Amino acid sequence: MPVQYRDYRHIAIGDYQAVVVGSGFAGSVVARQLAEQGGMRVLIIEKRPHIGGNMYDEVDEAGILVHRYGPHIFHTNNREVFEYLLRFSEFIPYQHRVLANWYGTYLPVPFNKTSLEIAFGMKRALTLNDKLVDAFGEGRKVTINELRSQNDSELSEIADFVYRNVFLYYTQKQWGLTPDEVDPSVTARVPVSISRDDRYFQDAYQGMPKDGYTALFENLLDHENIDVCLNIEAESVFDLEFESMAEDAKISSIKLHDMPFEGPLVYTGPLDELFLSRFGRLPYRSLDFVYETFDAERVLPCGTVNYTVTEDFTRITEFKHMTGQKCANTTIMKEYPREYNDPKTQIPYYAIINDENNAHYERYRALTSHLPNFYPIGRLAEYRYYNMDTIIELALATARAILDRQ
Ligand code: FAD
Ligand code: UDP
Repeated sequence: MPVQYRDYRHIAIGDYQAVVVGSGFAGSVVARQLAEQGGMRVLIIEKRPHIGGNMYDEVDEAGILVHRYGPHIFHTNNREVFEYLLRFSEFIPYQHRVLANWYGTYLPVPFNKTSLEIAFGMKRALTLNDKLVDAFGEGRKVTINELRSQNDSELSEIADFVYRNVFLYYTQKQWGLTPDEVDPSVTARVPVSISRDDRYFQDAYQGMPKDGYTALFENLLDHENIDVCLNIEAESVFDLEFESMAEDAKISSIKLHDMPFEGPLVYTGPLDELFLSRFGRLPYRSLDFVYETFDAERVLPCGTVNYTVTEDFTRITEFKHMTGQKCANTTIMKEYPREYNDPKTQIPYYAIINDENNAHYERYRALTSHLPNFYPIGRLAEYRYYNMDTIIELALATARAILDRQ
């Protein structure tokens, strides 16, 4: 049985025990669990013309399976999460590798022993590597901030090099901020590695869904208790009632089709958009993706090349490395970071996490925090920088919490 798509105008809201906004991993996993474990009828409202959120992939005109919202590589240390996904798709093994294009020379990223040798030459790299091993230990991973805080001239030399040649310009492009200005957790995602391990992720379980993410989502949402309405924005069909006219007044009820909805309401979109940005828009970064097809089997040496010192785009991804697709041509994608200004034409990809923006988010969160049936989860609704596996873990926990309350 395929996914059951419905026209929102013709649904009877009384038929559903739960409503989910968004069909990325956050929304789809909760929907599946409520439908399967709780026997609940679930309605998913999705504003894009397809399911799968940012994981959506499709075959392009050249016949290449491409990701439409940025390259997505699955990796996790959580066995339960990986086993859960295996119910909906086989996975092919894939270990992501990234090279920085450093003025035409390739440097492995995360910066590791091999990068040290390329940057400093074999002889000097030997001394510097000894210094790193003495200071931190063989095999350790050290964030750029930790490395920069060391009071040693040789460690500072390495730190300065990595800061200037790997982090500075890439971060300025990506965030419009320097590495010192972004939350430390952002650059900590890509620590310097005192080893030869050149994999981008070291998690125990890594891979790509055999037939792509969209096929995985089709299986995830293929359940008799789940209906999906595409091209519907929650804010256009949610009728919010407030306790008073005050700007900070909390929601008293959420109506759909003129009826207060009492069942669980799982919301995975940006929280400010639900309130028509009444306290001002939450800051996000967006991206433009530019694709190019070549008459060649492969054009890059690995899945992604980062441009850390030149170019306006941050990285180029060649999908065939990740998907294992075999054919005579290939498609690559460049990512151009953008300010997020217009919800009508842009997608908010990255929350810009800092104290001020977190407080701004909490102001929106306070409007719903008292509602026992409202569950904001996901990268957007929680204003967090989550990977797919964390989202799935949170969605499984949210579904359990909802079912425990029934
Ligand atoms: P989303 O996937 O964004 O889904 C939210 C859904 O809600 C969307 O379909 C959206 O259209 C819908 N929606 C939003 N607002 C409304 C509304 N008002 N009404 C109706 N529908 C609405 N993670 C990894 O683990 N590995 C990676 O390699 C990786 N690469 C990434 C690359 C990029 C460029 C980006 C931006 C993210 C990457 N991620 C990666 C993170 C991953 O995309 C997120 O963890 C994941 O998308 C979170 O799932 P979600 O359901 O919370 O959000
Ligand atoms: N980063 C960088 N240079 C790189 C790779 C990463 O400066 O070559 C920084 C940059 O600030 C980026 C962050 O580290 O936003 C996290 O990188 P990651 O690859 O995890 O970003 P994502 O894949 O989530 O966009």
